Amino acid sequence: MIDQATIDRIIDAAEISEVVGEFVTLKRRGVNMIGNCPFHNEKTPSFTVSPSKGIFKCFGCGKGGNSVNFIMEHESLSYPEALKWLAKKYHIDIKEEEESPEQKQQKDDRESMMIVSAWAQKYFSRYLLEEDEGRTVGLSYIRERGIRDEIVKKFELGFCPEGKDAFTRQALKQGYKTEFLESTGLTIRRDDWVRDRFAGRVMFPIHNVAGRVIAFGGRTLKADKNTAKYLNSPESDIYHKSRVLYGIYQAKREIIRHDKCYLVEGYTDVLSMHQAGIENVVASSGTALTHDQIRLIKRFTPNITIIYDGDAAGIKASLRGIDLVLEEGVNVKVLLLPDGEDPDSFSRAMSSSQLTAYIEENETDFIRFKTKLLMAGAANDPIEKARLVNDIVRSIAIVPDAITRSIYIQDCSRLMDVQEEVLYEQVRKIIQKQTEELQKKNYRDRNYNQQQEPGPDFFFDEPAAAVTKSVAPPKPKYTCEIEEREIIRIMLKYFNDEVFEIEDENGDPLAISVGQYVLEELDNDGLVSDNELINRVLDLFAENLDNPDFKAQPFFIRNSDPQISQLATDLLADKYIESKRWKKGGAFVEEEHEILDLLVPKIVQEYKLSKVRALLRGLESQIQEAGKTDNWEALMEHQNQYINLKKVAKNLSEQLGNRTIL
Ligand SMILES: [Zn+2]
Repeated sequence: MIDQATIDRIIDAAEISEVVGEFVTLKRRGVNMIGNCPFHNEKTPSFTVSPSKGIFKCFGCGKGGNSVNFIMEHESLSYPEALKWLAKKYHIDIKEEEESPEQKQQKDDRESMMIVSAWAQKYFSRYLLEEDEGRTVGLSYIRERGIRDEIVKKFELGFCPEGKDAFTRQALKQGYKTEFLESTGLTIRRDDWVRDRFAGRVMFPIHNVAGRVIAFGGRTLKADKNTAKYLNSPESDIYHKSRVLYGIYQAKREIIRHDKCYLVEGYTDVLSMHQAGIENVVASSGTALTHDQIRLIKRFTPNITIIYDGDAAGIKASLRGIDLVLEEGVNVKVLLLPDGEDPDSFSRAMSSSQLTAYIEENETDFIRFKTKLLMAGAANDPIEKARLVNDIVRSIAIVPDAITRSIYIQDCSRLMDVQEEVLYEQVRKIIQKQTEELQKKNYRDRNYNQQQEPGPDFFFDEPAAAVTKSVAPPKPKYTCEIEEREIIRIMLKYFNDEVFEIEDENGDPLAISVGQYVLEELDNDGLVSDNELINRVLDLFAENLDNPDFKAQPFFIRNSDPQISQLATDLLADKYIESKRWKKGGAFVEEEHEILDLLVPKIVQEYKLSKVRALLRGLESQIQEAGKTDNWEALMEHQNQYINLKKVAKNLSEQLGNRTIL
């Protein structure tokens, strides 16, 4: 357990825009910063960071929180793991006892898998560089391939000893559990024996964006046809092949600096490009490119150049996959290497500046590339050509930006010898169809709170572009959720504000804070939430009622219970509740803090009314039930309760200025 003082130190050090900025390219927008959300697929940025509040919020997918929540979400870590991650980044000591075998076991599985992977990487590297077998077999092979030692170190290459289980035995001796050696795929276990998956292979560790080892690729040095040239770690809780790009950790800073990312096929392609001085390069490791991988790149740049070997058949096969790159709104270019060359051989044949110049001169945008490539085989076949035109038009229609689309249309019109108007019409039809489908879907999703008018934004000084889009808030999950969240929100913001005045027993004026008022009102009526979290938060407020140093916002945003800090950030960033406009003396008041004396009682009464209505609904079904079973005693009792509650509801409703008959 990490104490609150240490948590505070970590959060103080972990400046939100810096933490987020490690993974997301942020642009300044007024006092806030915006960028593309790393948690959902979006074309216009709705991911907003508020350095002054120390929190982030995505108005597209709703994720939000402080820097710890961000790391939890982004790196898939638990709360203490995320704190440790940040503590390490900011060199803050967390006092923890030496790990006992029991504690080692207690660490959750993912962390254990990361730890064993990190240890394995060090073991393989040491074996490659220091042991006879590693040096004579592994290192000499790597050097033969022309890979320099500095690259070996940079990518932490290694060697797994030949034989049955040398690595696994050493790992077990160090106290690592077979369970995690197996779940990471480093060790293969059958009933009563274990063996090393990667025995005799040169090891390429695969890092996540944050630089932790999550998997390995192993290359065999045997010429045996029955042995796979490359062997990869299996999918696991820490390694999802479709979300990982080889080299992203080593490349991310250069990708940002050049505002461009090169995509190659294999591990050694990445290595040779780095060696040639081009460091903004990643590999998809043989798999077809996925949405997740493109989004990973898109956090750092919208410009991707895919480098292909000069093998036409292979390229045609992968064209369809590139359409999804277009869909992500990134600028895709393609570079076709001369026949028989791959990035490895090609980059070795020329200097860094020659290579850069070659790429700049020869890369073409994807649509043009695709058109040229396919036209070569279809120019004299009208049916094939018609099919091709449709194919290209579909690709163009995917491009989100209208200007880019029209440039593509002009190009293709020339290249395919088809009138521009025809292409425009085709593209327009496809887009219209897509829009209609999207509207239908949005209509289905918007089932809630449509009457609320958009209003001033109290939290973020300048709304991010996508906020204006119609994103419906989620449906309530428990009774009175909306009202209870509003109660908590108003206390988070104004807990200590003394806005009420009563007379004490001597007739002197006594100031009452928002917190006091709300808690007493709830207490008097014995109101308890159906939701445990809400009750925990209310208890914490009550405990701090007499604490003069209590500051609600930092206390809850930084709370060591991640559910609580999540709720607090959500509420403080919530647009749907804050977008109401309040009337005072006939005029609209833009700032709610000017009318707390009216607003707070109204919120409390709305909550009570909502509770009473829920009770009435419950009674209605009890009355029905009692009627069916001829339980006259219960029926009478429920009906009396019902009539009394109706009166309460009517009173509350009238006080709220709501004359509708219940
Ligand atoms: Zn999002």
